[in-house]
Amino acid sequence: MLRAISALILENISLLAEFETKEIGKPLKESLFVDIPLAAQCFDYYAAFLEGLEEKSISTEGGIDLIKYEPYGVCASYLPYNVPLMIFGFSCAGALASGNSLIIKPSEFGSLSILELAKHFDKLDIPKGLINIVTGKGETAGKYLAQSNIDIISFTGSRNTLKKIVSLTKDYPKKIICELGGANLTVVFQDADKNAAIENISGSSFMKQGQMCIGTSIALIEDEIYDDFLRQLLEKAKNIKTGDPFDATVGMGPLVSKEHLNSIDMHIKDILKRGGKLLTGGKILKQKGYFYPPTIIEIENMVYEEFFAPVLLVKKFKNNQIQSLVENNPTGLVLQVWSNNLAKAKGLADIACCGTVWINTFAQMSPQTPFGGTKLSGWGRNLGSAGFFEYVQPKHIGIGLAKSPVEGWFGV
Ligand code: NAD
Repeated sequence: MLRAISALILENISLLAEFETKEIGKPLKESLFVDIPLAAQCFDYYAAFLEGLEEKSISTEGGIDLIKYEPYGVCASYLPYNVPLMIFGFSCAGALASGNSLIIKPSEFGSLSILELAKHFDKLDIPKGLINIVTGKGETAGKYLAQSNIDIISFTGSRNTLKKIVSLTKDYPKKIICELGGANLTVVFQDADKNAAIENISGSSFMKQGQMCIGTSIALIEDEIYDDFLRQLLEKAKNIKTGDPFDATVGMGPLVSKEHLNSIDMHIKDILKRGGKLLTGGKILKQKGYFYPPTIIEIENMVYEEFFAPVLLVKKFKNNQIQSLVENNPTGLVLQVWSNNLAKAKGLADIACCGTVWINTFAQMSPQTPFGGTKLSGWGRNLGSAGFFEYVQPKHIGIGLAKSPVEGWFGV
């Protein structure tokens, strides 16, 4: 079944990618070559994972202990708008592989691709009702789903929504695997490969118009290289073409909604009021559509907030400050470190409070590697073997073959 879902995704990829781009605005090349193929790989991965899975039996003095894995039951999977099918792969492949049934709640801003895919589910040889989709607004459909008789929640979205879901489920507490966002740092040491760092910071800040949970929020640049590095970074950002996301030469399409566009504008004004220095961008583009330009702002004080927008904050650091700057961020989901000194980079990776650290790379992720946050960026994992065991509960069955531990306890 998992392999059949993967095949369905790949057979229909052109239309699915077109829908994600039309509805969300991210460039077609991102939907077509990155996001949706990765969704398909997740289902193939868990099919292979199951083939290698063995349930345990342990022989003890008293008998045999079996440990089997059981699903929770009905899993409600909340998807965010920016990568609907990718997160369908991240959360639902593991949930299905472990035997749960699904009620998927896509975002009201990103439902088309999953609904298109769902048209084909009935052709598969799977029980009716195994995979269900509920569309609608978060504060109505999403709310009622959280309060319904489900057994486990896999939530990918913002911290504010998670808080609401936690309070909605307080009378019937259930396990929540939550994948949130945060202010992700990228550290560039003076011994870094500067061209590669600039390419990857631009990519991680401005792909999907910055609507990416793994995007760079703040680039911390060592003071010895700061001015030159920043000059090149600005040049790169200013050259990104904004426009029709179906045009292959375009780097950034429109934002998802007018509300998001306006909220970014307000957020930027607020950062500038708080002392940020605007270096490029920073104003809604006067063209039809919800376009915001690549924006770079220099800051003195750290801002641990997620913009989810094409906005990059930059800050200079001295070598003796970097450890505390990285350690003090409770919101990071990922960290990038750029340095030719692997031991130094690994040192930062070890103390960083986040689920993923990339050293001299960005977005190096696959269905084999666990993905998730720590502290304010979430808990629980999708993908990898960890992403299977999140969705099961082990059951212990002890079979007595000798005298049981309580026999004769009372002496009567
Ligand atoms: P969101 O929190 O607004 O919505 C997520 C889901 O929750 C949607 O399906 C939505 O309909 C539903 N929802 C919204 N309000 C609700 C409510 N009151 N009750 C119940 N359900 C409700 O998030 P978004 O704007 O769609 O996505 C952006 C956020 O997602 C960012 O914070 C980003 O960092 C995060 N994200 C995280 C990951 C990850 O894997 N860690 C991946 C992608 C996005």
